[in-house]
Amino acid sequence: MRVVVDLSRCEGYAQCAFLAPEAFRMHGEEALMYDPNPDDARRDQVLRAAAACPVQAILVDRLEGPDSAVEATRS
Ligand code: SF4
Repeated sequence: MRVVVDLSRCEGYAQCAFLAPEAFRMHGEEALMYDPNPDDARRDQVLRAAAACPVQAILVDRLEGPDSAVEATRS
């Protein structure tokens, strides 16, 4: 799966690092490090983390496949 974090939105609340520590990690107080290609086995964790982000900075699977490309152009 593909994950992109909009770091210009991220406020370092660390909800994602708490819910999916294998995919998201805080580096210092505010800098977020993340795995852009987490294993599909972590999908649920990553989706939960994305849903919990207070500023919706985590985008999941937005860059994959023709369908999502069409969706992106529509919105
Ligand atoms: S939950 Fe959202 S705001 Fe908080 S560290 Fe993760 S991406 Fe950033």
